[in-house]
Amino acid sequence: MCIFCKIVNGDIPADIVYEDEKYMAFKDIKPKAPIHILIIPKEHIEKLADIDDVSKNVIGDMAIIANKVAKQLGIDKTGYRIVINNGPDAGQEVYHIHMHLLGGKKLIFAS
Ligand code: 5GP
Ligand code: ZN
Repeated sequence: MCIFCKIVNGDIPADIVYEDEKYMAFKDIKPKAPIHILIIPKEHIEKLADIDDVSKNVIGDMAIIANKVAKQLGIDKTGYRIVINNGPDAGQEVYHIHMHLLGGKKLIFAS
């Protein structure tokens, strides 16, 4: 089972900031900004490239949750960035689709 599925199952701990029936959001273990949250579907989908007509709502749902969490954490006015890494060149480390929510400082674009 992948590491994010283990978090969903409660097998490994995470600092959860949002949860509903289908999604979870928790703090990144190695934050790259003062606010660094990962939003995931509870269903195991490996990567963005696997999103199809059936699963496309996952992307919109994660964006709505990112907006909610940004408000909850007080960065809705200062701004934030969402990132989805897909595959090796994007540096995807965990093959369970996730959206990064980054904020709390002026973000420099990293390529
Ligand atoms: P990726 O590079 O796949 O887009 O992002 C994976 C992210 O997951 C990284 O920012 C990494 O720090 C984070 N991460 C990896 N393992 C764990 C973990 O066990 N718990 C939490 N909270 N974050 C993790
Ligand atoms: Zn998984």
